Amino acid sequence: MDYEVIIVGAGSMGMAAGYYLAKQGKSVLLIDAGDPPHTDGSHHGETRIIRHAYGEGEAYVDMALRAQALWEELHDLSDEEIFIPTGVLNIGQSHSVFMQNVIKSAKNYSLNVEKLSADEINQRWNGFHLPDSYMGCFEKDSGVLLSENVVSTYKKEACRHGAVMKVDSAVRSISILDNRVEVGVGKESFTANFLILTPGAGTRQILSLIDLELPLQEVRKTFSWFEADECTYHSRNFPAFSFVLPDETYYGFPSVHEAGVKMGRHDGGQLRDMRKPPETFGSYDEDWRDVINLARQFMPQVGQHKIGKVCTYTNTPDGDFIIDRHPNHDHVVIATGFSGHGFKFSSVVGEMLSQLVTGDGQPAFDISPFSLKRFE
Ligand SMILES: Cc1cc2nc3c(=O)[nH]c(=O)nc-3n(C[C@H](O)[C@H](O)[C@H](O)COP(=O)(O)OP(=O)(O)OC[C@H]3O[C@@H](n4cnc5c(N)ncnc54)[C@H](O)[C@@H]3O)c2cc1C
Repeated sequence: MDYEVIIVGAGSMGMAAGYYLAKQGKSVLLIDAGDPPHTDGSHHGETRIIRHAYGEGEAYVDMALRAQALWEELHDLSDEEIFIPTGVLNIGQSHSVFMQNVIKSAKNYSLNVEKLSADEINQRWNGFHLPDSYMGCFEKDSGVLLSENVVSTYKKEACRHGAVMKVDSAVRSISILDNRVEVGVGKESFTANFLILTPGAGTRQILSLIDLELPLQEVRKTFSWFEADECTYHSRNFPAFSFVLPDETYYGFPSVHEAGVKMGRHDGGQLRDMRKPPETFGSYDEDWRDVINLARQFMPQVGQHKIGKVCTYTNTPDGDFIIDRHPNHDHVVIATGFSGHGFKFSSVVGEMLSQLVTGDGQPAFDISPFSLKRFE
């Protein structure tokens, strides 16, 4: 079968790209090893934070604002909940690079960000108990994305616009021909003018099929839900949050759908061997220890640990994404290495991937910060 575009990896980024392409009338085949949304990639666990005043660098702010507009469009279109406007509170010490960058991004982009002392935070949300050495930046207009609902809505909408899904189908071969590609799955093979590779934690295995190596690391990450008093921690009254401590970084969510407060550690984790499934939650002491210590220290009203899960980050050496064309083949586009902070951008990345393979091939945002050249 012949298509205009084949997408390998129909998770967060690939499914969004499939939607934006199918909506423009392109013939698209999406291939995935699982049946997204699923728990074998990087998009499960119900919720993801979207922040706009980006502490990781200003290159991301315009993209975050476009992503937010696209999330609101998707929210209106979907019969599932996509975005909850909880606001996001970034917590840290005022001299930390991350907090300084948040403040700088907010100022340069005139974002609606409120600087709060520890005392002001403790008074406004009594679920926090911060010492005086901490401060916060509250972004009122950001909040929480329902990640599995996002993937299932993009899937439904892409199919409604004519995209073809091939699920539970690991890719076995890829041949890059002049201006064409051929992708093998089981006994079948499919051809297209363009190929988009978005296989998340499966990237290195997929790239080995086309003799390309990237310095990616797949890292096992855990996250946990805790019992929580709904009056204090409900998503109606409590924000999503991040904690930048001197040597550790955490993120967390208010209780969404009365599931309890969810928390995880952003740094750290264990390198994965991608030939095996990740070790289950609780295999390492730190799976419990880190988040329980955070809760005891800064959110003592949070109750018992309820449940923990395992997910995977695909990290680049600098923590910045990879969004680029193949070094020798312009009709092959690679988007990977989202380093534990990509989900919020999946709407705009999907739109940019669609722009890279249609029209004049120019995405609306500068992708040079995400180039492959930086690893040469
Ligand atoms: C615990 C956790 C918390 C996070 N929190 C946040 C947050 O709050 N905010 C935020 O912005 N981001 C967050 N992230 C990061 C974000 O979720 C990821 O950056 C994003 O989901 C990556 O998208 P992806 O499309 O690269 O990967 P995925 O969504 O995993 O999609 C990749 C797809 O490729 C498929 N695939 C793999 N190999 C093959 C193959 N050989 N053949 C066919 N298909 C294949 C997989 O089955 C999968 O469906 C978090 C991540 C984790 C793990």
